[in-house]
Amino acid sequence: MKKNLLDLDAHALSAYFAEMGEKPFRARQLMRWIYREGESDFAAMTDIAAVLRNKLAQQACIVVPEILREELSDDGTRKWLLNVGTGNAVEAVYIPEVARGTLCISSQAGCALDCSFCSTGKQGFNRNLSVAEIIGQLWWANHQLGRNAEGNWAISNVVMMGMGEPLLNYDNTVSALRLMLDDLGYGLSRRRVTVSTSGVVPAMDRLREDCPVALAVSLHAPNDALRDQLVPINQKYPLKVLLAACRRYLERAPRDFITFEYVMLDGVNDTVQHAHELVRRVADTPCKFNLIPFNPFPQSPYQRSRPEAIQRFRDVLMQADIMTTTRKTRGDDIAAACGQLAGQVLDKTRRTTRIAFHK
Ligand code: SAH
Ligand code: SF4
Repeated sequence: MKKNLLDLDAHALSAYFAEMGEKPFRARQLMRWIYREGESDFAAMTDIAAVLRNKLAQQACIVVPEILREELSDDGTRKWLLNVGTGNAVEAVYIPEVARGTLCISSQAGCALDCSFCSTGKQGFNRNLSVAEIIGQLWWANHQLGRNAEGNWAISNVVMMGMGEPLLNYDNTVSALRLMLDDLGYGLSRRRVTVSTSGVVPAMDRLREDCPVALAVSLHAPNDALRDQLVPINQKYPLKVLLAACRRYLERAPRDFITFEYVMLDGVNDTVQHAHELVRRVADTPCKFNLIPFNPFPQSPYQRSRPEAIQRFRDVLMQADIMTTTRKTRGDDIAAACGQLAGQVLDKTRRTTRIAFHK
């Protein structure tokens, strides 16, 4: 089988070239073609000797997952459904904003963590995505969207907030992050790349050492009793342990605060009392809050908090000097909003036919 070069970060690509008896700078040349130029055809890589190009064409390939479907929202949000084989699909979402273009990417097909408000969690875990499947989402989005007026790729920011728990697919996530940050890759700064985690504490400590990008932590509750229900991994890594890990992460983080995500569930975690409890809870952890109005999905057990409740909750945090924003719901007309990404693993019995149907 041909080697998919999108699976290799700079280090692995150099090793691959060394194995072929080629010089390391060839690997750098190739990375520049793949990521800076967005080229996937070896024949077009004109500064590489024809002999090497032919050899590569025989042994290697540059292949992103098959795109099953693209949807465009009224607000400009775009969603791609990518086939990751054996009946699995994942989603990537492009969110255009005035001064930046953000891509929300997936790290796993399904998710094992089963948060009670999450559509991906309801599907169970299917498998980890490969490096090529993770970085391929970014390659594809840039390929589709092209460059902006300044000549830069459309995607300026990446958030790993799509399907799956990135820190439970640790090695592939870190390799993909390295390709995003590498100068010969996409050259994004560490503050423009965010990993979102539900709180896999040991992996947060590893990430701090290996590749400390911006971190978002899905908090969702001010106490363990409630968080145990909403985010079951809390039973393993409770709030005290999680918040201590957040503070450790800050020693190396590109920003001097952690972003806490907090999904607003009507009557469940959104009262003024919850807000006060939260303020006390995070008092010694430098943070910002991002309130996410709950996005419903078929058979979801919750309602979205009312706008007044979200406003009151935000006021309590702001009065305690905690910077708080409310996430604008984008792309919900195409089920591209947070927590609505379902891919095609939802109904395992019918998944093959469903993929065929979407073609
Ligand atoms: N597994 C990681 C990243 C993917 S989920 C994590 O949990 O952080 C990205 C964000 O979407 C998380 O904050 C998650 O809690 C939130 N989310 C999940 N389902 C949601 C829903 N139905 N409505 C709003 N936000 C949701
Ligand atoms: Fe997994 Fe994140 Fe969904 Fe929880 S919220 S089930 S960790 S994808």
